[in-house]
Amino acid sequence: MDELERVSAHTWAGGINYTGHLTRLMRDLVVRVPELRYIDLGRVLVFARPGRVGTDGPHATCHCLGLPASDPGYYFWRDLQTGRLTRRTEWFVERSPEVTCGGRAVDYLISFALPRFCNQSLERSPKRAWYPGVPPWVAKLDTVVHELYHIDPAQPGIRQLVRPDGRPSPRSHTPEFYAAVVSMVRAYLDSHPDPAVLEFLQHDFDGLTARYGGVAGLTFRGFPAYPRRYREALVPQPAPLETGEEAPLHSCVGGDPIKSATDDDLQLRQFFATGSRLLAPQTAREAA
Ligand SMILES: [Zn+2]
Repeated sequence: MDELERVSAHTWAGGINYTGHLTRLMRDLVVRVPELRYIDLGRVLVFARPGRVGTDGPHATCHCLGLPASDPGYYFWRDLQTGRLTRRTEWFVERSPEVTCGGRAVDYLISFALPRFCNQSLERSPKRAWYPGVPPWVAKLDTVVHELYHIDPAQPGIRQLVRPDGRPSPRSHTPEFYAAVVSMVRAYLDSHPDPAVLEFLQHDFDGLTARYGGVAGLTFRGFPAYPRRYREALVPQPAPLETGEEAPLHSCVGGDPIKSATDDDLQLRQFFATGSRLLAPQTAREAA
C-alpha cells in the first residue's frame, strides 16, 4: 500500500470516510475498465470540498497540478470612450501548486462536494436518459468515472477532446465524452464488482448518517482552501510597454493561496447538512 492509499484509507470510528471509499472505488475502476487502465492512481488524490444539498454547483471536479507556469501577463481596464488604459494589474504568471504524498508528486486532485455529491440521483439528472432501468445512485458512479476520464492519457492536463471530423474541440465535454463515460460505467457494472465496493454509493447523505453515524472526507489544512493554480507577481516588474501603463495598479494576487502541500497537510473533517468540523487536530497520517 503506498502512502497516498494509506492516507486515503484510514478509518474513522465515528462514521464513514467517504473520500476513502471513493478512492477504493477508483482503484477498482482502473483495474476493471480497460479504458481507464492508463491512470496511475498513485498520483491522484481525492479530497472533499463543501457543497450544500440543493444548491447549484458541481458534484465533483478534476484539477490538474502538472501544468507549467503560464506566460507572463496582466489584466487591464480601458475607458470605453477614449480607449485609454485606466487601471491594470501587476505583471504575473500563473503557477501550479506542488502537492506530494509520501514524497511522491501528486499530478491530479479530484474534489467531491460534500454532502451534495451524496445526494446525486438519476431521478433529478439529465443523465437519466442514458441509463434506462438502472438504480438512481448510478448517477454518482457516472460522476466518478467522468472525473477520472478527464485525466489526459498523453500528457499532464485535462483530456483534449476531438470533434467528429478529427479537429481538436475547444470544449472539455462533448456528446462523445458523455457516451464514453456511460459505456465505461456499464462495462464496470457488467464486470460484477464486489458489492461492498459500491455499497456506500447507494445511500444519500441522510441514509449514510443513519447507517454509519456520520460522513467524513479528507481536506487540506486551510479548509475550505485547497491547492490550486495561483498568480504570482513578477519581480522585478517588466518595464511599461505602452503609454498608460503607469495607470493605478491593482494587485493580481488574491487571498493567500496554498502553494504547496504534503500528506501532513491532510485532515479528516466531518460534513453536515450545513458546515463541517475538524475531526482531530492531528493530521490524517497520525489518525491512521
Ligand atoms: Zn467534466
